[in-house]
Amino acid sequence: MTDTYKDKGARKRLVEELAQKGITDKMVLNAIGKVPRHYFFSNTFHAHAYLDKAFPIGEGQTISQPYTVAYQTQLLQVEKNDRVLEIGTGSGYQAAILCEMGASVYTIERIESLHKKAKALLMKLGYQFAAVCGDGTKGMTSHAPFDKIIVTAGAPVVPEELIKQLKIGGIMIVPVGDDKTQKMFTIIKTSANTFEKVELDSFSFVPLVGQNGWKE
Ligand code: SAM
Repeated sequence: MTDTYKDKGARKRLVEELAQKGITDKMVLNAIGKVPRHYFFSNTFHAHAYLDKAFPIGEGQTISQPYTVAYQTQLLQVEKNDRVLEIGTGSGYQAAILCEMGASVYTIERIESLHKKAKALLMKLGYQFAAVCGDGTKGMTSHAPFDKIIVTAGAPVVPEELIKQLKIGGIMIVPVGDDKTQKMFTIIKTSANTFEKVELDSFSFVPLVGQNGWKE
């Protein structure tokens, strides 16, 4: 794995593009500027790594578009040492961004081959994190409650089990809609039994499949 001047230059331009598209959080832009996104691509597709586009990672899944990663991460308002649960490890790129921002990252992926590949890469890059293979719609009760939860696949409804695993005052970012488009939602847990919901922009994610998501 090498990170050349050409890669660094392409990454700098990507960060500028994201800032022009409205991403203002310096911690987010800084993390995107640091993590070599091309490590999450096979060599053949290296040239696609710094385009602001989603890209296939196998098993019918995708690494999210950089703008989407930046948008969700900005909404998450990550603070150093936050306990963050990610549903949908995919390539591991989003988890790497959260690690760079100083979060304690817990990530769940339902497809074993993707889980294994992402875990191996994140370990090779020297990140500290916990990665589990399983149904993320059930959350990770063994490590709950979390300060923040980020769902990186499209849910049919806000997964209530995940709200239960948020701390009071915690934030969850989740795309909710049908199988084609979803609205991004910010959920803020206001007490043990209440939460506020803010509806934001439209996106298009692969489906969140599981007990509290879409059925297989
Ligand atoms: N965050 C990923 C990245 O940085 O590459 C991109 C995620 S991709 C858009 C969505 C991922 O969610 C897919 O890898 C998919 O297999 C996974 N997924 C879907 N339903 C899931 C579930 N119930 N639990 C865990 N992962 C799930």
